[in-house]
Amino acid sequence: MLRIVSISERAVPISRYADPSIPSGGLTTSIVALTTDVVRDGRPVVGFGFSSIGRFAQSGLIRERFAPRLLAASETELASADGTNIDPYRAWTAMMRGEKPGGHGERCIAVGTLDMALWDAAGKIAGLPLYRLLQERLGNTSGSASVEVYASGGYPYPHDDLRRLQDEIRALLDAGYTHFKIKIGAFELERDIERIEAVLALLPSGAHLAVDAMNAYDAASAVRAAAALKPFHLRWFEDVCDPFDFETQSHVTARYDAPIAAGEALFSAAEATLLDRFGGLRRDRDILLFDPAHGYGIPEYGRIVGVLTDAGWPLTAFWPHGGHLFTLHVAAAFGLAGGEVNPRSFAPFGGIGDDAVAAAGTVTLPEDPGIGFERRQDLRRLFESL
Ligand code: MG
Repeated sequence: MLRIVSISERAVPISRYADPSIPSGGLTTSIVALTTDVVRDGRPVVGFGFSSIGRFAQSGLIRERFAPRLLAASETELASADGTNIDPYRAWTAMMRGEKPGGHGERCIAVGTLDMALWDAAGKIAGLPLYRLLQERLGNTSGSASVEVYASGGYPYPHDDLRRLQDEIRALLDAGYTHFKIKIGAFELERDIERIEAVLALLPSGAHLAVDAMNAYDAASAVRAAAALKPFHLRWFEDVCDPFDFETQSHVTARYDAPIAAGEALFSAAEATLLDRFGGLRRDRDILLFDPAHGYGIPEYGRIVGVLTDAGWPLTAFWPHGGHLFTLHVAAAFGLAGGEVNPRSFAPFGGIGDDAVAAAGTVTLPEDPGIGFERRQDLRRLFESL
């Protein structure tokens, strides 16, 4: 017998700041523990997952709709062809039974959370780290254990912003990161330019810094921002406008030579196709940010990569959003350009392992079976509290 015997879920608060006393918009995430009836080292295998970062917990959808379908699924619906492991692709199909096309809403995040736990469990049952299990599954034999990364953060501080921003970047440089991303769009443009200049004073060139407007601009302010950013020749300009405002997206892209990054808040292959068709993005330089956990998990992420590479996009355009260990496994398995790391935000989920270091802008994935969340003391305690 191979079954999922229980699934626990809890909503937990997360903060954009290393100092959690700074207000961070009430962000939450769901943590899940998925217990199987497979025994390893005398204990049932438990897969852990969470709802990535930057959005909210999905307790209702997980508890009322998607977890019950996994718990009701038979061995034939869950198991690999040889019956020795969970097949997360088959389990995903069982979880999505009866769902209609479209209407992604945040359903995709609930499904992505459970998908993460399914992959963690499958890795633990196979005795393989997730990136290797997935490389085998994808037939990608050239994959490696190291991933190029950049450090993400630079959220506006309510007091003493420029000094604290510089302190943050200095600490990340000391930790071995070479490329960075900071937030813009929350203030008037002049203040954002000051933030960019303060960070660039610490870096070799604009090619080491990306900026993320968090979808803040409308048609007019997006064009003004693009003109102001142009002289800095930044690494990329991310989340320019509303994710579905393809008109503004393409208008800005046509007037801005340096790379643009988009796709973080689009959660399906159908939406990714719309972005490609109408966003004016350029396959020779622009960046695709789709989040494998927010967007229904690895099966749908694979479809997104598939439709866009079929349309001519290179794998080197993909820098998945997330900033945590799961995304880095996905980047390594698919052979993508690299991934985001949130070393000082969204604790305890952001960043890598307690003992992992970023050497010259790359990280090496842990060899523990599954995702390796347990490498981090604080994260292990949190998941085990389920
Ligand atoms: Mg972003």
